[in-house]
Amino acid sequence: MTSLKAVRGTRDLLPPETELWNRVEATARRVFARYNFGEIRTPIFEDTSLFARGVGEETDIVSKEMYTWEDRARAQSEKSQSLTLRPENTAGVVRAYIEHKLGDTGLLQKLYYIGPQFRRERPQKGRYRQFWQIGAEVIGPPSAGSESPLRDAEVLEMLASFLDELGITGWTLVLNSVGSASDRPKYVAALREALAPVKGRMSPDNQRRAETNPLRVLDSKDPADEAIIATLPKIADYLDDESKAHFAAVCAALDACGVKYGINPRLVRGLDYYTRTTFEFTVGGLSPQRAGAPGTPILGAQNALLGGGRYDGLSEMLGGPKAPGIGFAMGLDRLILTLQAQAEGAPEKSAPVLADAFLAPLGAALDAPALSLARHLRRQGLRIELGDGAFRLKKSFEIANKLARNIILLGEDEHASGILTVKNFATGEQTKIPRDQLAQALQPPE
Ligand code: ATP
Ligand code: MG
Repeated sequence: MTSLKAVRGTRDLLPPETELWNRVEATARRVFARYNFGEIRTPIFEDTSLFARGVGEETDIVSKEMYTWEDRARAQSEKSQSLTLRPENTAGVVRAYIEHKLGDTGLLQKLYYIGPQFRRERPQKGRYRQFWQIGAEVIGPPSAGSESPLRDAEVLEMLASFLDELGITGWTLVLNSVGSASDRPKYVAALREALAPVKGRMSPDNQRRAETNPLRVLDSKDPADEAIIATLPKIADYLDDESKAHFAAVCAALDACGVKYGINPRLVRGLDYYTRTTFEFTVGGLSPQRAGAPGTPILGAQNALLGGGRYDGLSEMLGGPKAPGIGFAMGLDRLILTLQAQAEGAPEKSAPVLADAFLAPLGAALDAPALSLARHLRRQGLRIELGDGAFRLKKSFEIANKLARNIILLGEDEHASGILTVKNFATGEQTKIPRDQLAQALQPPE
């Protein structure tokens, strides 16, 4: 029988690497808490129409990347339903905002999420079919200040602080404004006009986009079409005064707090719901060279760590109240790859965590007392690996040496006297320690 493997584009995350994942997630929770965000957890699958309406039919995500299935009815009273594994989380958060009438509070909702997303993409370095995102949304009624450029700048400043605190170096922030629902049509019309005489020379994908959704042409990564794209009109020239002032205020607030950015007039991002501010944080640089081989880009062909933007009309597109908002999603997998690559030359090998002690019962009769002693020590907060009375002493020492800083021997004498024999592997020292002083003696060094 052939052995079963994780499905292409998915992978197992194992210790000790998961320590690094936990560290990144803990840093996000800690930093976001300072900005007064709370956590939201939405379902992993939703009604397909949420994404069709929220993300946009003409986007790559909806047109070719979603995992969608017809969920059969289980009873007469049920209808079958088209469901989709979430490819992103903003639509789900806005659905929850509408469903739970969070706008009725009159307050800004500041929500973050951490979880897996699913897209049927071509798997490669930094691109998986199940991947993780850490994201956040600031959304609320206009009276709560949800349209304010200060919110955009605050979110961007938070992201800069997060990446710095995480220890990612050399990141770059690029910004753009894609205008409001009212100035977008003028620009799209100008794009269509400019594309009409040249689109015949573009890739089939871009020919299609030029018809159905010309903005997406700007988002194209097709190098052959670069030269044509460079000649297309720029959205900055089509923004109305309000959108221009909004963008200028975002930039001014970033300047004031010293967050560096560049402006990329072609940054429209791959989702239909964006309005006004759009942004991306990228990281360049190469993995360190090994054995004379040239360095490879840290994130393979992709260099976007995270992306986001403002989505002032999304709630209404989903049948909700007016609820402008801004949010972002970071690729957790790509944060990890970057940290590993940047950790001094070699990929960051998360050091295996050593247990404070390996507890070795010397004989099966001591198994039960050993569990009791382990319980006592664990309740004091110590990390204990419990051995087995069936193991020979030599085997216990071998395992203990791999997993723990100390070995505790629990034989008949130790059990009767309550005085344990402890050997520290770093110093080689063997000591006798009374049971009630053991937890203190085993505390890890600071
Ligand atoms: P890309 O241009 O890299 O495909 P995107 O525009 O599709 O990115 P978003 O939908 O904005 O990306 O998602 C935000 C972030 O999620 C990306 O910047 C990236 O870090 C991460 N991400 C997106 N798709 C994947 C994937 N298939 N595997 C791993 N990370 C991903
Ligand atoms: Mg993509």
